[in-house]
Amino acid sequence: MKRRHEHDERDTPPTPARADPPEHPLIGLQRQAGNQSVTAAIQRTLEVTGSDRDVASMLGMLRRPSGLDLVHHRKTHQVTIEGRKDKPPSPALAAKLTEVIEDPARVAKVNLGRKQEGVGFGEFPTDEQNPVQELRIDHFEALEKGVPGAGTATLAHEITENYAATDQEVHDAGWEFAHSRVHPGAEAEANQVLEELQLSRGDKPSGRRQTQYTFTSGKGPTERTTWAEARENQYHLWDVGPGGTITHARTAPIVRLAEFSLELSALWKVLPTTAAPVVARIAELITANPSASVTLRGYTRTGQQATADEWYWAVQSEVAEIVGDSILASAQRYAFEPVLAGDNHVVITVNRPGP
Ligand SMILES: [Zn+2]
Repeated sequence: MKRRHEHDERDTPPTPARADPPEHPLIGLQRQAGNQSVTAAIQRTLEVTGSDRDVASMLGMLRRPSGLDLVHHRKTHQVTIEGRKDKPPSPALAAKLTEVIEDPARVAKVNLGRKQEGVGFGEFPTDEQNPVQELRIDHFEALEKGVPGAGTATLAHEITENYAATDQEVHDAGWEFAHSRVHPGAEAEANQVLEELQLSRGDKPSGRRQTQYTFTSGKGPTERTTWAEARENQYHLWDVGPGGTITHARTAPIVRLAEFSLELSALWKVLPTTAAPVVARIAELITANPSASVTLRGYTRTGQQATADEWYWAVQSEVAEIVGDSILASAQRYAFEPVLAGDNHVVITVNRPGP
């Protein structure tokens, strides 16, 4: 569905592209011996299409963090591993890329560009017959520049997701469910890669992504739209410009605006009336702070998980009713964190990105 980014010969690759080897020497030898099956055994199964410049940019974001000497072959679009370093900054990334590239049966496919309409970072393929993940490589570059490790981690998300979707079980379950089946695993992979890369740099780990949403700030010519990712330990933010470009990727500290605690009882399938002032205060806070996010943590031990989840949805809809603004009330602004410990209560925190 997305337009293909054809090879653009005007683009000069920042790193020299290597020529495709005509044929793996082992295949040639085996073919002479009349053995065809060895071809499958060393099949390369990560296909990357795009301009030389874009491919070089993507591999550049993966090589050092994974410690893998990744080489792209223009004719076949395949990526191979030509060497590896011990103790890479992200062992998780090295392991995942190795798994994807050395899988003898499944082929992961990504296509790189800088202008695909409506694509934010990556887009899961809508067409089961053409399951290519579209990636806006400029988005990954901008994020990596502002939040080192995060661009690479997001790339890991997209590759993992596309690869996971090549599983026959995912196809059998119906393509319309494919993304929701493979996304959580891709997210876990990305979180681990990000943590490893941040720790290897001596940076503060951002923690898991809890939710993401947009907010606007400024007025008239200075108005801008910002994407926010609320993470456990800090925010990731970037501004969205014309043509979907991303600028000023950055981290921001969490500023705690309020914290509420409510006792959870199985008898209350809906929010208790004692929650009304809490809901009213949350509505006030997010109206005054359009960049705020809300997290509801359910501390439950005795099978009250479902109730905590109900409350999570109830808080959102009740705040929405008060605020009456679809952007401010948007469900994406909220995160639910089940915690299987503690004594049946929920803690609702309202935060905003600093300074
Ligand atoms: Zn995803």
